[in-house]
Amino acid sequence: MQCPACRHPESHVLESRSADLGRSVRRRRVCLRCHERFTTYERVEVIPLTVVKRDGRRESFSRSKVFHGLSQACEKTTVTPEQVNLIVEDVENLLQQRNYREITSKDLGELVLDRLGQLSDVAYIRFASVYGQFASVEDFSAILQLLKKRSGEALRLRPNLSTPEP
Ligand SMILES: [Zn+2]
Repeated sequence: MQCPACRHPESHVLESRSADLGRSVRRRRVCLRCHERFTTYERVEVIPLTVVKRDGRRESFSRSKVFHGLSQACEKTTVTPEQVNLIVEDVENLLQQRNYREITSKDLGELVLDRLGQLSDVAYIRFASVYGQFASVEDFSAILQLLKKRSGEALRLRPNLSTPEP
């Protein structure tokens, strides 16, 4: 950290303290050249993420929106709100770690579905249909076949996907 007085690049940390309710660290430093004392703050960088929708519109990533959509898909299934929260957190962490600035709603949906599919087939189908993950009827049938194979049982689904029932 460059000294604000003489621009020397090296300083010595005298004291580190948690600040901003643990969201940052405050460090008291002394310049190794001119002995000027100064303070720095260290924070986790939160990269703003933009979601590009199918029609090209852009909006900021909203964890509450994903949580809400996911909760709806998981209604009356075995998936708990805690599990929903974990999926959202997991996806958000992954995007932060990979330094994503932008993601299509389709890719975002797939990340959620990867995790949801391990918990509930019904919630999976609901989320996928609501979020338009299926480009075509063929696409949808393929997913159904895959799920049937995996669970070894037929899924009881209504033909009308807008009102699926567990
Ligand atoms: Zn200095």
